[in-house]
Amino acid sequence: MTEILPITENSLKRAKTLILKGETVAFPTETVYGLGANAYNTVAVNKIFEVKGRPNDNPLIVHVHKDFDISALVAEVPDYAKILAKKFLPGPLTMVYKSKGTVSPAVSCGLDTLAVRIPSHEGAQKFLKYLDLPIAAPSANISKHISPTSAEHVLADLDGKIDLILDGGVCTGGIESTVLDCTGEIPVVLRSGLISKEMVQETVGACGEYVYREGGVARSPGMRYKHYAPTCRTEMFEPDEYKNALALYDAELEKGVKVCILCDGDGKELIGDRKFIFLGSTPKEMAANLYAKLREGEKTSELLIVISPKERGGVMAGVMNRLTKACGKRYES
Ligand code: AMP
Ligand code: MG
Repeated sequence: MTEILPITENSLKRAKTLILKGETVAFPTETVYGLGANAYNTVAVNKIFEVKGRPNDNPLIVHVHKDFDISALVAEVPDYAKILAKKFLPGPLTMVYKSKGTVSPAVSCGLDTLAVRIPSHEGAQKFLKYLDLPIAAPSANISKHISPTSAEHVLADLDGKIDLILDGGVCTGGIESTVLDCTGEIPVVLRSGLISKEMVQETVGACGEYVYREGGVARSPGMRYKHYAPTCRTEMFEPDEYKNALALYDAELEKGVKVCILCDGDGKELIGDRKFIFLGSTPKEMAANLYAKLREGEKTSELLIVISPKERGGVMAGVMNRLTKACGKRYES
């Protein structure tokens, strides 16, 4: 049975016992819930892959508390990374460094780099401090399904598969951390998130963005996979295809298919009395709501996404990336 407990001295004790035994524990962060295991223990790290059904070539992020000395884990921290860490950490930014090879090789799936994150969530900090260990953790969902932003979401995916979920409420950030490669001359965004490429650029003067091309070598292996996907049929439409989305809705409804539109503010009036889910008005609001709304949407048989963002950079880049991957499509800006 899976227990959900608020974060207290008692539940932290229980979490520590489980982690030291080589088990996994789900915990909250400001982005999404994580499924953690002792990064030094290969058997424990492999359990993460097993529980999630995660492909074993998709590396994990190591989470540490804010006073943890990461020089025990990574070999080189360039000056720009120090500046970024000072400005954005603790926070939703994962930084990839050359690994010292001190954690289990299963964490990075054999790569010579290590992704490190210091979450700002108070509950995450308490959990990490209590353990004082590097905790390898991907999102606490079944692989390729929608990431969890509440303890209930974790339970819906992993009930009976893990012993404990530490409940820290609803995640306020809503999309996974920005993954930034800090092994080169300049930082390179491997996965967009709440710390945008523009924010990194403003802070250290330069920032690249890695765009994965189908069939190529993925610098961040997670890029290759369909992700964040609702279990129902999910289609995305460009803003100028609104009419097509509505026509499909009407045709599906006619056939008796339970269908729903996921939209932002623009075009809401076009929908009329059709069933819709409102994602939010601002990029930050949309990010925070995204996964709960996709989970709500998958209760129907078909979800039609029509988002007309005013900007496509900044945080919106992260939201659009998740939405297109939810449909197995790539978003070209
Ligand atoms: P998840 O924890 O499920 O949100 O996924 C972690 C993400 O971080 C995936 O997209 C991985 O590909 C990426 N990642 C983890 N470790 C590394 C690494 N050493 N180098 C590049 N990307 C990484
Ligand atoms: Mg994930």
